[in-house]
Amino acid sequence: MPVSAPTRAGIVITGTEVLSGIISDRNGPWLSERLRELGIELTQISVVGDRPGDMEAALRFFADQGVALIVTSGGLGPTADDLTAEVVGAFCGRPMVLDEALEGRIAEILRAITRRWPGLDIDALRRSNRKQAVIPEGATVLEPVGTAPGLVVGMRDPGTGGDAVTPVVVVLPGPPRELQPMWRAASETEAFRAAIVGATEYRQGILRLFGIPESEIAATLRALEQDGLALERLEITTCLRRGEIEIATRYEPDDAETYGAFADAIAERHSNTLFSRDATTIDDQVADLLAGHRVAVGESCTGGLVAARLTERAGSSAYFAGGVVAYSNAAKTEMLGVAPDMIERHGAVSPEVAEALADGAMQHFDADIGVGVTGIAGPGGGDDDKPVGRVCFSVASSDGARITRTVDLPGNRADVRDRSVTVTFHLLRRLLRAELDAPGLRSAADEVSATSE
Ligand code: ATP
Ligand code: MG
Repeated sequence: MPVSAPTRAGIVITGTEVLSGIISDRNGPWLSERLRELGIELTQISVVGDRPGDMEAALRFFADQGVALIVTSGGLGPTADDLTAEVVGAFCGRPMVLDEALEGRIAEILRAITRRWPGLDIDALRRSNRKQAVIPEGATVLEPVGTAPGLVVGMRDPGTGGDAVTPVVVVLPGPPRELQPMWRAASETEAFRAAIVGATEYRQGILRLFGIPESEIAATLRALEQDGLALERLEITTCLRRGEIEIATRYEPDDAETYGAFADAIAERHSNTLFSRDATTIDDQVADLLAGHRVAVGESCTGGLVAARLTERAGSSAYFAGGVVAYSNAAKTEMLGVAPDMIERHGAVSPEVAEALADGAMQHFDADIGVGVTGIAGPGGGDDDKPVGRVCFSVASSDGARITRTVDLPGNRADVRDRSVTVTFHLLRRLLRAELDAPGLRSAADEVSATSE
């Protein structure tokens, strides 16, 4: 348990497009993680439209909760519906004033933009952007990454009442690529540091497991507590993400030893399913393990998602040879050499065909690692014998090592396809680590059969 009262914060996301669901909020979750890193407790994320009254009510709400910090996102642009600076100025009791030096810097940025768009009416542009240089008096300016400056604004009259906390407001633009660097700048300002002084320092550890139901982790936690491990010193959050279990633990530096004991205990009890204790993702690990290899993919129900995820990171050309989306039976045969009578006998969704896809891809691309995926993503196409969600996987290496698995994945079509990619990555990891017969690939799925050569 934190020894002192936690420093608390609120987030106000503005934008009618976010409130109405046209775009989904990326800033709230991102800021939440940043606050957490600083040991600041987030009380709520509030989403409001571009209406000054609603924005003001949200600021007021957080101030009444006694938070030390309010972070706003959006509404800093040049148009009439961008009102955040004004609302925050009024809220903090500060008149709006033109910062001429800032206006000059914005003009400079605009000059560069207008060079790329020669047809623009520069005067109109400048008039509307003068608005962005009108800021609450005494606010700290955060230099624009786009054209909108951010602000750190304290209450003009911080009140006199003894312990009363008056919040400092950090005002950031809406576009995430602008907000993120400007957050860094905001967190280094004096006003910001003063607002969070006394925030408890926390550390965070992340454990990732695959192939184990959440209930087993819950049972482990109970058992460890009974064994006398001081889990109450740790703030443990377990969540299911893309078919993996992530255990994020926040703790104070003094409790590092307790956390170490906890991580060791998880590693000991779940050695088959714990794949990361240093915060690396399965994608990181597979990318590392593929160094020096050439991987090729023959995929059906995932429609290219395996190839897409394998090529997500820069530098993947060093190990990714190519992939074939062999959706129809004809494509499986013509492009990857899957024998028609094998498909006839076992069905297109079968371990045999998954293996043939892996081998065919390996051969076609002259690779040393092959991947085959074939399944029924649904919602149609399933029957009693092969239900929707049944997916067959095979990963093989040119030296003869192979893992083939058939699993029944839960969820809708998108879930089954996404989960299939995750399973493929975990199978690849095992193949590349030569853990060919390791159990524990059940995921949130029931393994219906397992064969490995
Ligand atoms: P601009 O100068 O771009 O207008 P702004 O601070 O006024 O900056 P907004 O008008 O609120 O920002 O939003 C501009 C765009 O940024 C939105 O249309 C949207 O694409 C993106 N954006 C805004 N808020 C969010 C958010 N919370 N999550 C993800 N994207 C956002
Ligand atoms: Mg805007």
